[in-house]
Amino acid sequence: MKELVCIVCPNGCTLHIEGEGKNIKISGQKCRKGLTFAQNEMTNPMRSICSTVRTAFRDVPVLPVKVSCEIPKDKIFEVMQAINRVTVQERIGTGDIIIKNVCGTAADIIATSNILKE
Ligand code: SF4
Repeated sequence: MKELVCIVCPNGCTLHIEGEGKNIKISGQKCRKGLTFAQNEMTNPMRSICSTVRTAFRDVPVLPVKVSCEIPKDKIFEVMQAINRVTVQERIGTGDIIIKNVCGTAADIIATSNILKE
């Protein structure tokens, strides 16, 4: 028996998982989203990342960023290293791409603020 906390909503249901792979029995969820979450966690766990990148501008030394879509959980460290290597050289804004297809995940690193343009 494995236990997971569902992170889809603030309820944080404790999910109980029996079995392995596709032959699992899930209990403890209050809704269907918990079932999907547990199935994904047991086969291909995905996560979103929000972070900041350095900029070349003294007035705004860091810029908030995020991934454009969820990435495999086991790629988080590699993606964070890629984010930490970047220094933004232009006054970009919300939605602008900073790293395309980061670490081959098909996700882009995009700006989430217009603070460099204000
Ligand atoms: S199982 Fe449903 S209600 Fe419970 S935390 Fe997940 S999404 Fe929220």
